[in-house]
Amino acid sequence: MAETGPPVLDEEPIQKSGLEKVEEGSPKAPVEIKLSSEAPPKKQRRAKLKAKDSSDKAATQLLTESQITALENAFKAGDVEDRGVVDAGQVQFIVQQVLGDVLTVSEVRTLVQKGEAVGAATGVINLQEFKDLLIDLLHTTTTRWGALQTSLDGYVGFDTVLEQQRKKFLKKGFEFNLMVVGESGLGKSTLVNTLFKSKVSRTSCTNEPPQKIPKTVEINTVTHVIEEKNVRLRLSITDTPGFGDQVNNENCWLPIYDQINKQFDKYLTEERSVVRRKQIPDSRIHCCLYFIAPTGHGLKALDISCMKKLHDVVNIIPVIAKADTMTIEERDAFKDRIREDIAEAEIKVYPSSLLPEDEDVLQANAPIRKHLPLAVVGNDRALTINNKSILGRQTKWGFVEVENPNHCEFSFLRDMLLRTHMQDLKDTTHEEHYENYRRQKLSEEGNP
Ligand code: GDP
Ligand code: MG
Repeated sequence: MAETGPPVLDEEPIQKSGLEKVEEGSPKAPVEIKLSSEAPPKKQRRAKLKAKDSSDKAATQLLTESQITALENAFKAGDVEDRGVVDAGQVQFIVQQVLGDVLTVSEVRTLVQKGEAVGAATGVINLQEFKDLLIDLLHTTTTRWGALQTSLDGYVGFDTVLEQQRKKFLKKGFEFNLMVVGESGLGKSTLVNTLFKSKVSRTSCTNEPPQKIPKTVEINTVTHVIEEKNVRLRLSITDTPGFGDQVNNENCWLPIYDQINKQFDKYLTEERSVVRRKQIPDSRIHCCLYFIAPTGHGLKALDISCMKKLHDVVNIIPVIAKADTMTIEERDAFKDRIREDIAEAEIKVYPSSLLPEDEDVLQANAPIRKHLPLAVVGNDRALTINNKSILGRQTKWGFVEVENPNHCEFSFLRDMLLRTHMQDLKDTTHEEHYENYRRQKLSEEGNP
């Protein structure tokens, strides 16, 4: 539709357009819009007019006359019995009539929820409520306006905004905070070093003096800056030495849980302070790699209780440590077993499947869900084989290539963490885990 976007000065104010024109029997009015012939019950009509007064102003400012007319026409087409109202459940289909099939799954979900809220009392929605709902949707939820989108007469150039954003982000650099949890000796430090192809975490096989197992769970965070093709990443690795190594491991999740919440609190304090930094430093844990010992026996009670305590505050990715110590059959059976345990214990692992996902997200997440928990092998020292430098573990009976997908799922994990889902892990942390924390904290303080 070739319309210049709002505000449109040369258009008639909405009070004189569409709806009322028809009621006055104006010959200019579109044929479809004839509300006057069969008026809805008096009470309903009065309520509708009242609603109209309060929101027509908003409609005038936000949509053009022809856009409003399109909404009205679609509503009338949906109101086949000419009752002046449509069922709340029908809204999604009417919107499809106006915009076309353009909304994403999550946008449709928002629309349906809003529609249900508006029609909660009566189960139906009147024209004004429908228009308000649509105006709200178009201005707060989606830029997919389909048939209501305004066409351009030529190239304007705002597509360069992506490049502008890229420059800005490159200047700032990125942050990513990873946590590793699991008993000592499972290869956590080795795996982190393998992931980032650098010595970002101290392993127990280096020449440095061996680390003593602490008496309680400790939280150690080390930060590095690494750079690849001008992209700088401030990478924080939080290790949890002592986890699962005590005589009584009942509460060993607690220091980890506290640490995660402490970072949320730090962020919230910064966000709420009167003089705040332009860019709030983000020390919130974006991802927790949970290491499962390759026992072949399924999850331990400790694994279940710990993951269940942590799954509401952090994105958990379960991995089977030292997968080279199992045969392929053992590994597959073990994976099945763990999957069953996770489902039975209702542990939420990343990516969460609780919310409906858009098609592209679903496609990106499906293989991850199929492969979890990822059976990984780590080794931070490359070996030279046939003049090629390869990351792997040499044993007497063979060579396990870390990055070979036929040997283990390390590369799958690396691709997911660094190449496909890093931003989503950060977004989920911010939009779900931090948001839960924030909501709870503020409501405890008595905020509405
Ligand atoms: P952490 O205590 O969990 O951080 O474990 P480390 O990374 O320090 O590794 C402990 C020991 O396990 C070292 O001797 C590593 O060489 C070894 N290791 C690490 N990853 C693997 C692996 O994938 N497979 C095998 N077989 N050994 C590993
Ligand atoms: Mg370690």
